[in-house]
Amino acid sequence: MKIKLGLLYGGKSAEHEVSLLTARAVSQAINFDKYEVYPIFITKVGEWIKGNPLMGPVDTVESLKISKETIRPNSITSFLPIDGDDASHLDVIFPLLHGPNGEDGTVQGLLEVMNLPYVGNGVLASAAGMDKVVMKQLFNEAGLAQVPYVHFIRNEWKNSQTALLQKMEGNLKWPLFVKPANLGSSVGITKVANREELLTAVEVAFKYDRKIIVEQGIVARELEMSVLGNDEPRCSIAGEVLPTKDFYDYEAKYEDGTTNYAIPAEVSPELLEKMKDAAIRAFKVLDCSGLVRADFFVTDDEEVIINEVNTLPGFTPISMYPKLWMESGLAYSDLIEELIALAMERFEEKQ
Ligand code: ADP
Ligand code: MG
Ligand code: MG
Repeated sequence: MKIKLGLLYGGKSAEHEVSLLTARAVSQAINFDKYEVYPIFITKVGEWIKGNPLMGPVDTVESLKISKETIRPNSITSFLPIDGDDASHLDVIFPLLHGPNGEDGTVQGLLEVMNLPYVGNGVLASAAGMDKVVMKQLFNEAGLAQVPYVHFIRNEWKNSQTALLQKMEGNLKWPLFVKPANLGSSVGITKVANREELLTAVEVAFKYDRKIIVEQGIVARELEMSVLGNDEPRCSIAGEVLPTKDFYDYEAKYEDGTTNYAIPAEVSPELLEKMKDAAIRAFKVLDCSGLVRADFFVTDDEEVIINEVNTLPGFTPISMYPKLWMESGLAYSDLIEELIALAMERFEEKQ
């Protein structure tokens, strides 16, 4: 019996197109002798459309954009995004989504309610990993080194702006990074050098979230590590992001090709061990499962400072997470298989 795998992709977020590329890549790597692969497409406006099983690897992302007309009429209901009867015959779901509504625990919660096993992090880890403030508070709990920061919600900013500015200027050294708490892909993030820029950046960040984090800027290497597993996670080799501009912003990540990557990164064995230790501690304190990419700042004297974890990191074959595993000796298709196996394992453990 083939395993019935639902590929969940698309979505309302800024990473809709990236998600389609990921779904295509996964379809090209998956073993169709072992899996029956069902596409579940979330449109940009948030409709969920489940298609007929894929016949084989998908060539164009266009063919992944299923429209309601091309599928069996009974495969959508108005209540649950996926038809109850239709979805319950799936064995496991692989969410290939990023950002809000994909990576933040909401979709994970829906899949829990539907009693479907799914790849990757559960509700708690996803939600905690999406909120940079909560994530940092938990990292602190785990004894991980971090940059100094201040955080506040819109209401606090409105009522105590002067006190907050004093706190920031008193505790943090310029430049600062202003970030919406719940986002990714560098969206809404500004690097600021003075109070005037800070005030503008705070308004920008509030467009995306009611909660903001302001961090002290650090001059450091940006090193990343992939973690894979459930209760006994293991770490990949390290990779390095080498932005050629001021910082690793949205354009540098997706658009202008100015970023270089070193895979593997040049790191001493001692540094690698320190990163592994921190990556595992981060994984455990958020109660992660399946996968996480841990992102670090590393200073000249090799201090390892955690920046964040990404609970559903970029997953195309050229993304850092799978690439680090490939370089560690785990092929993309084997990584996919292992993630699915980990999803089933976690689900069975819960039953
Ligand atoms: P996202 O979740 O959107 O990726 P990050 O917190 O990783 O947000 O920030 C995006 C990028 O901004 C980082 O990769 C780094 O280049 C830069 N950056 C963020 N915070 C700092 C900081 N405190 N010091 C220096 N650079 C930073
Ligand atoms: Mg992130
Ligand atoms: Mg980041």
